[in-house]
Amino acid sequence: MHRFEAILENIRKKGLRDSKIKRKVIEYLLKANKPLSIGEIIELLDQEEFRFNKTSLYRETDKLLKGGFITEIDFLDGKKRYEINTGTHHHHAICTKCKKIVCVEIPNNLEEVEKKLFQDTQFKVEDHVLEFFGTCKECSK
Ligand SMILES: [Zn+2]
Ligand SMILES: [Zn+2]
Ligand SMILES: [Zn+2]
Repeated sequence: MHRFEAILENIRKKGLRDSKIKRKVIEYLLKANKPLSIGEIIELLDQEEFRFNKTSLYRETDKLLKGGFITEIDFLDGKKRYEINTGTHHHHAICTKCKKIVCVEIPNNLEEVEKKLFQDTQFKVEDHVLEFFGTCKECSK
Protein backbone atom coordinates (compact mmCIF):
# COMPACT_ATOMS: atom_id res chain seq x y z
CA MET A 1 0.00 0.00 0.00
CA HIS A 2 2.92 2.31 -0.68
CA ARG A 3 1.06 4.44 -3.24
CA PHE A 4 -1.85 4.80 -0.88
CA GLU A 5 0.38 6.26 1.84
CA ALA A 6 2.11 8.56 -0.64
CA ILE A 7 -1.23 9.96 -1.81
CA LEU A 8 -2.40 10.50 1.77
CA GLU A 9 0.79 12.33 2.56
CA ASN A 10 0.25 14.64 -0.41
CA ILE A 11 -3.31 15.28 0.69
CA ARG A 12 -2.05 16.38 4.10
CA LYS A 13 0.72 18.46 2.52
CA LYS A 14 -1.89 20.32 0.48
CA GLY A 15 -3.66 21.15 3.72
CA LEU A 16 -6.64 18.91 3.03
CA ARG A 17 -8.16 16.80 5.73
CA ASP A 18 -7.51 13.11 5.13
CA SER A 19 -11.01 12.01 6.03
CA LYS A 20 -12.17 8.38 6.12
CA ILE A 21 -14.25 8.88 3.04
CA LYS A 22 -11.31 10.34 1.08
CA ARG A 23 -9.24 7.32 2.14
CA LYS A 24 -11.96 4.98 0.89
CA VAL A 25 -12.23 6.70 -2.48
CA ILE A 26 -8.45 6.55 -2.96
CA GLU A 27 -8.31 2.94 -1.77
CA TYR A 28 -11.06 1.81 -4.18
CA LEU A 29 -9.60 3.66 -7.14
CA LEU A 30 -6.17 2.14 -6.51
CA LYS A 31 -7.62 -1.35 -6.10
CA ALA A 32 -10.00 -1.17 -9.04
CA ASN A 33 -7.23 -0.12 -11.39
CA LYS A 34 -9.93 1.30 -13.67
CA PRO A 35 -12.08 4.40 -13.51
CA LEU A 36 -15.04 4.15 -11.13
CA SER A 37 -18.26 6.12 -11.07
CA ILE A 38 -19.73 7.51 -7.86
CA GLY A 39 -22.41 4.80 -8.17
CA GLU A 40 -19.73 2.11 -8.17
CA ILE A 41 -17.97 3.74 -5.22
CA ILE A 42 -21.28 3.79 -3.31
CA GLU A 43 -21.76 0.08 -4.09
CA LEU A 44 -18.31 -0.70 -2.68
CA LEU A 45 -18.98 1.37 0.45
CA ASP A 46 -22.30 -0.42 0.93
CA GLN A 47 -20.66 -3.82 0.53
CA GLU A 48 -18.36 -2.96 3.40
CA GLU A 49 -21.28 -1.51 5.34
CA PHE A 50 -19.30 1.67 5.62
CA ARG A 51 -21.55 4.39 7.02
CA PHE A 52 -21.33 7.62 5.06
CA ASN A 53 -23.32 10.56 3.91
CA LYS A 54 -23.76 11.00 0.15
CA THR A 55 -23.28 14.75 0.26
CA SER A 56 -19.91 14.38 1.91
CA LEU A 57 -18.92 11.65 -0.56
CA TYR A 58 -19.64 14.05 -3.44
CA ARG A 59 -17.90 16.91 -1.66
CA GLU A 60 -14.81 14.91 -0.75
CA THR A 61 -14.53 13.44 -4.25
CA ASP A 62 -14.73 16.97 -5.62
CA LYS A 63 -11.92 18.07 -3.29
CA LEU A 64 -9.76 15.19 -4.50
CA LEU A 65 -10.50 16.25 -8.06
CA LYS A 66 -9.76 19.93 -7.49
CA GLY A 67 -6.58 19.02 -5.60
CA GLY A 68 -5.42 17.02 -8.62
CA PHE A 69 -5.34 13.67 -6.82
CA ILE A 70 -7.88 12.11 -9.13
CA THR A 71 -9.08 12.90 -12.63
CA GLU A 72 -12.56 12.86 -14.10
CA ILE A 73 -13.52 11.03 -17.26
CA ASP A 74 -16.74 11.72 -19.10
CA PHE A 75 -18.05 9.16 -21.59
CA LEU A 76 -21.16 11.27 -22.10
CA ASP A 77 -23.35 8.55 -20.61
CA GLY A 78 -24.40 10.70 -17.69
CA LYS A 79 -21.87 9.11 -15.32
CA LYS A 80 -18.64 10.83 -14.43
CA ARG A 81 -15.89 8.36 -13.69
CA TYR A 82 -12.78 8.93 -11.64
CA GLU A 83 -9.29 7.50 -11.60
CA ILE A 84 -6.09 8.18 -9.69
CA ASN A 85 -4.12 10.97 -11.31
CA THR A 86 -0.97 9.22 -12.50
CA GLY A 87 0.45 12.47 -13.83
CA THR A 88 0.46 11.02 -17.32
CA HIS A 89 -2.03 12.67 -19.62
CA HIS A 90 -3.95 10.00 -21.48
CA HIS A 91 -7.24 9.00 -23.06
CA HIS A 92 -9.62 6.09 -22.74
CA ALA A 93 -11.38 3.49 -24.81
CA ILE A 94 -14.69 2.19 -23.46
CA CYS A 95 -16.53 -0.92 -24.59
CA THR A 96 -20.10 0.20 -25.15
CA LYS A 97 -21.38 -3.30 -24.32
CA CYS A 98 -19.63 -4.29 -21.07
CA LYS A 99 -18.28 -0.83 -20.14
CA LYS A 100 -14.72 -2.10 -19.84
CA ILE A 101 -12.29 0.82 -19.94
CA VAL A 102 -8.74 0.84 -21.24
CA CYS A 103 -6.29 3.72 -20.77
CA VAL A 104 -4.77 4.91 -24.04
CA GLU A 105 -1.64 7.00 -24.44
CA ILE A 106 -1.35 8.91 -27.69
CA PRO A 107 2.14 9.48 -29.09
CA ASN A 108 3.00 13.21 -29.07
CA ASN A 109 -0.37 13.80 -27.47
CA LEU A 110 -1.96 15.55 -30.46
CA GLU A 111 0.74 18.20 -30.33
CA GLU A 112 1.00 18.34 -34.10
CA VAL A 113 -2.74 18.76 -34.51
CA GLU A 114 -2.83 21.57 -31.97
CA LYS A 115 0.19 23.26 -33.56
CA LYS A 116 -1.39 23.12 -36.99
CA LEU A 117 -4.66 24.46 -35.64
CA PHE A 118 -2.79 27.43 -34.22
CA GLN A 119 -0.83 27.98 -37.42
CA ASP A 120 -3.99 27.88 -39.50
CA THR A 121 -6.41 29.73 -37.28
CA GLN A 122 -4.44 31.24 -34.33
CA PHE A 123 -6.63 29.14 -32.07
CA LYS A 124 -4.76 28.41 -28.84
CA VAL A 125 -5.66 25.01 -27.42
CA GLU A 126 -5.60 24.83 -23.64
CA ASP A 127 -6.96 21.35 -23.23
CA HIS A 128 -8.70 18.59 -25.14
CA VAL A 129 -11.00 15.67 -24.50
CA LEU A 130 -10.81 12.53 -26.60
CA GLU A 131 -12.31 9.18 -25.72
CA PHE A 132 -12.85 6.11 -27.89
CA PHE A 133 -16.03 4.03 -28.09
CA GLY A 134 -16.26 0.53 -29.44
CA THR A 135 -16.35 -3.17 -28.64
CA CYS A 136 -13.77 -5.08 -26.62
CA LYS A 137 -12.34 -8.48 -27.62
CA GLU A 138 -14.75 -10.48 -25.45
CA CYS A 139 -17.80 -8.58 -26.64
CA SER A 140 -16.88 -8.87 -30.33
CA LYS A 141 -16.89 -12.67 -30.20
ZN1 LIG B 1 -16.85 -5.47 -23.75
ZN1 LIG C 1 -6.94 6.21 -17.47
ZN1 LIG D 1 -4.56 14.10 -25.01
